Amino acid sequence: MTDPSKPQPAQEELNPFINAQRQLDIVAEAMEMDPAVRQMLRWPRRELIVHFPVQRDSGAVEIITGYRVQHNVARGPSKGGIRYHPGATLDEVRALSMWMTWKCALVNIPFGGAKGAVVCDPKLLSIHELERLTRRYTTEIILLIGPDHDIPAPDMNTNPQTMAWIMDTYSMHKGYTVPAVVTGKPLAIGGSEGRLEATGRGVMIVARDAAAEIGMSIEGASVVIQGFGNVGSNAAIEAHAMGARVIAVEDLAGAVYNREGIDIPVLLNYAREEGSVRGFPGAEPLPAADLLTLPCDILIPAAMENQITVPIAGRVNARLIVEAANGPVTPAADEILQNRGIPVVPDILANAGGVVVSYFEWVQDLQAFFWKPEEVDDRLCQIMSSSYADVSQTARKHQCSLRHAAYRIGVGRVAEASQLRGIYP
Ligand code: NAD
Repeated sequence: MTDPSKPQPAQEELNPFINAQRQLDIVAEAMEMDPAVRQMLRWPRRELIVHFPVQRDSGAVEIITGYRVQHNVARGPSKGGIRYHPGATLDEVRALSMWMTWKCALVNIPFGGAKGAVVCDPKLLSIHELERLTRRYTTEIILLIGPDHDIPAPDMNTNPQTMAWIMDTYSMHKGYTVPAVVTGKPLAIGGSEGRLEATGRGVMIVARDAAAEIGMSIEGASVVIQGFGNVGSNAAIEAHAMGARVIAVEDLAGAVYNREGIDIPVLLNYAREEGSVRGFPGAEPLPAADLLTLPCDILIPAAMENQITVPIAGRVNARLIVEAANGPVTPAADEILQNRGIPVVPDILANAGGVVVSYFEWVQDLQAFFWKPEEVDDRLCQIMSSSYADVSQTARKHQCSLRHAAYRIGVGRVAEASQLRGIYP
């Protein structure tokens, strides 16, 4: 329960960029960061907004808005996914790009942070319309992307096919094939083994480590997952393989529940055929509003931002939360969870497996030399587990939350790089 004697957060802020800046401010204050560096880190370095025409299959033309934001490149080229979503905004993309900067630094890969979005509902577009939209958006942002400066990847509603179109469009403009311009590509055109599964796999590696730390075995643990796309479904497969019981799953169309544990491989086939988990015969339907407060051992939000808000945080009934999505817990809700003693493995650590294997893909593309699945997996496990250990040790040292500890490491590395490079000219 929330302690009523403690001051409660006033009004809940839901703008992800304001929240991302606040998260930075808190850690900058605690670390006594140089004010000039702090100011530099509070804002993205470059922001591009594009409005471009796309022809529908009917012949009608629509003007579509897209963004590409590069937050910071102090440690290397910027890296970050492209999302297709009707609710995408510049502030959301700014926040996501900032979180990418801290994430890459935390897992110590040589990238800065970026993010992109196209304001559209891909469910309302045909495959040909999606291809035209993707190729035109790529052309509009081509002045920012490239294997040496900014490397996109998949995010919500984009996938290996989207990356293939981006890679092809970029290569057509250059006049030669440039696989390293994007990651998350299909294997046949320079993708990496293990990239598709990497984010969900990484989520469960840190979930297992965090569970062990609070004396919970992953085997037999009950797991609830919000979101059954790339990240949620792969986290479910991995949880199932580790012997956990995935008792509830939700996507945009509905939620399903089975106290004994859902048969994940069967659910996957069902969801692939039906386009949703809704109506799965191996489980009961569950009101979507009840999913995040179901009693369980591990709660994994794997959909989008601002899902666990203040009213929900007081009713969460999990022993551990692992943030597979970016920004699923608001800062005000985070404070409540902390007061209630529910540990939260923060997004910049929990979902870093995707960018780690994207980094492997970029390295393989640049060297034109490809690794075996076991090599990818071993290296991913090693980076995720050692990053969790660093965060956990830092949290103990500073008597702080895992989120604050992860920020101390990630932000600290970017601040150090910025300071060493100095201000040009
Ligand atoms: P996706 O488009 O493949 O899947 C999203 C899933 O969430 C779908 O099942 C959708 O139905 C569901 N969903 C969307 N809104 C919802 C809502 N309001 N309530 C319940 N379910 C909802 O996207 P993804 O790639 O799996 O990304 C999910 C999250 O993980 C995002 O926050 C993304 O930024 C983050 N992430 C993705 C990657 C990656 O490699 N794809 C890496 C790091 C972080």
